[in-house]
Amino acid sequence: MTDFSGQKAVVTGATRGIGRAITRALLEHGATVIGVYGGNREGAEQCRQACDGFGERLELHALDVSDYEAVQRFYRQVEERYGTIDILVNNAGIRRDGVLAMLAPGDWQRVLDVNLTGGYNMSRFAVPLMMQQKYGRILFITSPMARMGFPGQANYAASKAGQVGMMKSLAREVARRKITVNCISPGFIDTEFLEGLTAEQVKEYRKQVPVRRFGRPDEVAEAVLFLAGPGASYITGTVLEITGGL
Ligand code: NAD
Repeated sequence: MTDFSGQKAVVTGATRGIGRAITRALLEHGATVIGVYGGNREGAEQCRQACDGFGERLELHALDVSDYEAVQRFYRQVEERYGTIDILVNNAGIRRDGVLAMLAPGDWQRVLDVNLTGGYNMSRFAVPLMMQQKYGRILFITSPMARMGFPGQANYAASKAGQVGMMKSLAREVARRKITVNCISPGFIDTEFLEGLTAEQVKEYRKQVPVRRFGRPDEVAEAVLFLAGPGASYITGTVLEITGGL
């Protein structure tokens, strides 16, 4: 079992779904988690309660990851308080589905802004901190839609494919500083993200998954623990799929 005691992790989208499971797993393994959420205070309160018992090792910040200046201010606070960070998990993500020929420019742009530019903003200020200490683990939570595409998800698939390209370039830039950069690609995971699917769609998508079920957030968190740990030191620039075989 990897011990993350003394390590500081920034997790975006930390208060719900996959992000909450990642936050909890890192806390359980000894890390301090600086969690970021989009603004849902109720969700943040529920997360705080679910992670009760970890005391001062959990800090939650409302922060729009697509806002460059706000992200810069956030990292100034982090640096003042902690000096540096060891782990960044770019997990925050949204979808605003619609077939391309009818997709509103705002829905195209917002998905790119949060999923792709958000990952750039958060990594932009994490990398210099990690470079100073010559150690770091950066993860992006992408999606199989990046390689498969999906009708009604051109904006989402483009943002997730963009994350993969960004990850591969960044991995090469920072490899000599002992910073690894990877993507985790979850398949259908049971979270509020899938709200809006009809019962029929759920049945149909389940059938497409070879293990015949949707995944759980904690099954994604297990992969994060592995890639964020010191044991994954020779794994960089890659995508790990957690899809039940999809
Ligand atoms: P979720 O909707 O439950 O959680 C999304 C999180 O992102 C929330 O905590 C929200 O506060 C945060 N967020 C949204 N916009 C933000 C912003 N502008 N700034 C900061 N935070 C913001 O979704 P989830 O299922 O937990 O998804 C987490 C990640 O996993 C996403 O990137 C999603 O694309 C990816 N993913 C999910 C699935 C799935 O089936 N659930 C599959 C593949 C990939």
